[in-house]
Amino acid sequence: MSAAQAAAPTLVDPATISESFGSWQPRAACRAMGCEVFFAPENEPASARSRRERAAKLICAGCPVRQPCAVHALVNREAHGVWGGLSEDDRERLITHL
Ligand code: SF4
Repeated sequence: MSAAQAAAPTLVDPATISESFGSWQPRAACRAMGCEVFFAPENEPASARSRRERAAKLICAGCPVRQPCAVHALVNREAHGVWGGLSEDDRERLITHL
């Protein structure tokens, strides 16, 4: 491995993330919940969006698979929803600063 390769930042090996998705998803705190807390309806007003995202993040905060869920969303560039306690805007900010 060259010095350049050793210095390259890597969150996770993308080749393994799809395999692990099946291993953590069954333990998700949101598994039996509806999607409406995690995903925005069309034309959602900003104040409702803020309340919905706070509610979703509270659920995520107690979820045993929060970390792999967040990594999955970042690696796969999930465009919509709260994943691993990260909103769409949170993920965009993280990706922009990588
Ligand atoms: S971290 Fe949040 S979105 Fe991810 S599986 Fe857990 S409850 Fe669901």
